[in-house]
Amino acid sequence: MKDSFTSPDYYKIDSLLTEEHLLIRQAARDWVKKEVSPIIEDCAQKARFPSELCSGLASVGAFGPHIPTEYGGAGLDAIGYGLLMQEIERGDSGLRSTASVQSSLVMYPIWKFGSEAQKQKYLPKLATGELMGCFGLTEPDHGSNPGDMTTHFKDAGDHVILNGAKMWISNAPFADVAVVWAKNEQGRIHGLIVERDMEGFSTPETHNKWSLRASATGELLFQNVKVPKENILPEKSGLGAPLMCLDSARYGIAWGAIGAAMDCYDTALRYAQERIQFDKPIAATQLQQKKLAEMITEITKAQLLAWRLGVLQNEGEATTAQISMAKRNNVAMAVAIAREARQVLGAMGITGEYSIMRHMMNLESVITYEGTHDIHLLITGMDITGHNAFR
Ligand SMILES: Cc1cc2nc3c(=O)[nH]c(=O)nc-3n(C[C@H](O)[C@H](O)[C@H](O)COP(=O)(O)OP(=O)(O)OC[C@H]3O[C@@H](n4cnc5c(N)ncnc54)[C@H](O)[C@@H]3O)c2cc1C
Repeated sequence: MKDSFTSPDYYKIDSLLTEEHLLIRQAARDWVKKEVSPIIEDCAQKARFPSELCSGLASVGAFGPHIPTEYGGAGLDAIGYGLLMQEIERGDSGLRSTASVQSSLVMYPIWKFGSEAQKQKYLPKLATGELMGCFGLTEPDHGSNPGDMTTHFKDAGDHVILNGAKMWISNAPFADVAVVWAKNEQGRIHGLIVERDMEGFSTPETHNKWSLRASATGELLFQNVKVPKENILPEKSGLGAPLMCLDSARYGIAWGAIGAAMDCYDTALRYAQERIQFDKPIAATQLQQKKLAEMITEITKAQLLAWRLGVLQNEGEATTAQISMAKRNNVAMAVAIAREARQVLGAMGITGEYSIMRHMMNLESVITYEGTHDIHLLITGMDITGHNAFR
């Protein structure tokens, strides 16, 4: 089916964007229409990650949008980064996941916490997609509570010995490098760059997912892996380090989810205009208008939230709690819109002829990863009351 997506802009938010923002967005949108839309449904049906799209993701600037150009990044501001994530997730949340992981969870920690030698060695190749990365924080027994992780390393002279396991890791099956969070002998969390060919390191793929089927997910297993000390990120340790990476990725998800929602809305609006029942388009019925009117209202609110968060991020003022609120709200908004949009299409809504069901299933992961819907609520709750309700 031809991709005839038209972006809704009910409150003229485009007038708040710069010429550069509009150009970046257009280039990404054109690329998604030309390269992603024709193949992505088939990839999802076959549970295949389209690795052939990695060079295209790099060429639109989706690998390291906010990383400085001296390290191969696109050097964009936060809104440019957000718009890229929106356009890519308009195509598929799985592809956006790959871009988020590469940019915010692999390049960002190397850029922020890495040595100059680590930055020179990894960042330019990650920006072009020559190297692909993954981020290992979640463990089989520690999801929402990563601070209690058990993956650990011991000092062994010029290297450390890493043991443990990570689970639910996006990009793991094909990643060349993994940024892994593990505890030292004193129980302090550090980031380590683990390379695919290190002995004792394996990445079995996780199969049978109903969600993010065009994204590859796997485990990271470490059995006495010798990691050179020069691969430890030197500039920051403690749980705050991975949480900073998550802030950056969650910010992108707050924008990305709008892309998925816009695609569902646009598809439902178009279908409702064309589908005739009882001698008139279903778009002329009050019940379908209610669905469509509520969708555009929620999309517009989410766009404004994301734009304002982007301004705060550019000013260095965005807080973790503000990012949590936007991630939580915008993903829940997209989940609700996908469900409503699917109903507008009736039986056709359950087929792969349209993107809605794929978005709907993908968003079940997006609402869970990078902090669940509940966890983000607890972050807001703690911020406004001063009470920690996690434990
Ligand atoms: C497709 C996919 C890709 C992923 N990619 C990555 C990746 O690249 N890297 C990575 O490190 N991780 C990744 N994750 C893992 C993801 O971040 C975790 O699944 C998420 O943090 C939740 O952890 P959990 O699944 O163990 O759920 P749990 O922590 O076991 O939570 C289960 C339920 O309990 C709720 N809950 C937990 N604690 C509380 C509390 N204190 N109060 C109230 N309710 C609570 C949660 O909200 C949730 O509803 C991915 C997950 C998926 C599905």
